[in-house]
Amino acid sequence: MKRLLTLLLVLTAGPASAAFGPVDIRLYSLHRVTSISMEADGAVTVDGRPFKGNAKVSVKGQNVAMDGALKAGPEKTIKISAAGPLWLSGPGLPRRRYTGVLTVSAAKGRLKIINSVPLEVYIAGVVTGEASDLSRPEAYKAQAVAARTYIVKHLRNHAGEGYHLCDSTHCQLYTGDGHISPKALSAAVATKGELLLYKGKPAATFYHSICGGRTETMTSVWPYDHKTYLVSVKDGPPGHPYCSIAPRFHWKTKIYLKGLTRLSRQAGWILPDEQALSLRISRWGVSGRAEILELRTQRRAVQVPATEFYHGIGRRAGWQAVRSTLFRILTGRDYILLDGAGNGHGVGMCQWGAEGMARKGYKYREILKHYYPGTEIGHD
Ligand SMILES: [Zn+2]
Ligand SMILES: [Zn+2]
Repeated sequence: MKRLLTLLLVLTAGPASAAFGPVDIRLYSLHRVTSISMEADGAVTVDGRPFKGNAKVSVKGQNVAMDGALKAGPEKTIKISAAGPLWLSGPGLPRRRYTGVLTVSAAKGRLKIINSVPLEVYIAGVVTGEASDLSRPEAYKAQAVAARTYIVKHLRNHAGEGYHLCDSTHCQLYTGDGHISPKALSAAVATKGELLLYKGKPAATFYHSICGGRTETMTSVWPYDHKTYLVSVKDGPPGHPYCSIAPRFHWKTKIYLKGLTRLSRQAGWILPDEQALSLRISRWGVSGRAEILELRTQRRAVQVPATEFYHGIGRRAGWQAVRSTLFRILTGRDYILLDGAGNGHGVGMCQWGAEGMARKGYKYREILKHYYPGTEIGHD
């Protein structure tokens, strides 16, 4: 814990360059918050006045007001400087710890809480969530550079709304700094300011959990413009991919034709009076992933992009049912059996492969170069 605090101080103390100043994160962005409880233990000031104990901030028309151990407002904005921990909670809201500057105002009858947090603390928070399965420091560092590059590239996501990023998965999930893992924080510190660049510009650093042996070229998965560093790479020696150390590397899912019919109707792939009679792969991507599926009904054959199938099933039956588009289809009398490997879209860095490479002694720079060929590490 002491080490964690020391690292936090190192991160917060450094001079912030223009590109790496604090990031403004909208908190509880998916909730309709009209009042929020705050607890502080001393190192917090509200509009310049020390605040210790419990208080509540609520919407008062166009303004906000604080009541409790400290009273403030009603006024347009209440500014809270938290050099130490500030705990937020409320009905239906998870209790979370934040530091940095919080600016609270009212917008459309709800609280708008914006947390200005040092970029590297934010990255450590994101990496804690993204890399929770991993263990090796070099894998964490690769993840930190990928996450930092992604974040810097998306700082204008909420331009015009008064903040950089929201705290939901729309941008990157951020749940405060209360449970930042020491490994994630060390990785953020060790790679401070580093970005993955392609021709001098931040790269599109997509990543996924398990590639299953080979990553996929982005254009086989999404209809975006081709990027030379988002191409299919073999994930290690044949038969022994780096990510084969992952739990549930292989998966099998049985889908009854009745269930497939229901899901296909809901997804709009077939009409309400059609029945799904069979499913086969009609086109494969470079990595061996399914690219187009052919769904047969009593009347016709429907082509469904495999990515759409993966998302369609995931949204309706859960993301554990079809974990990737790397599968073969076995057909039974009244069911199909998907025999698959991997987890996620397969584009960019394979997180479990990064862990596997780190266990074999590779450094994070080598890991990133492997998954994003032609890129280099630099500063913005
Ligand atoms: Zn967002
Ligand atoms: Zn892999």
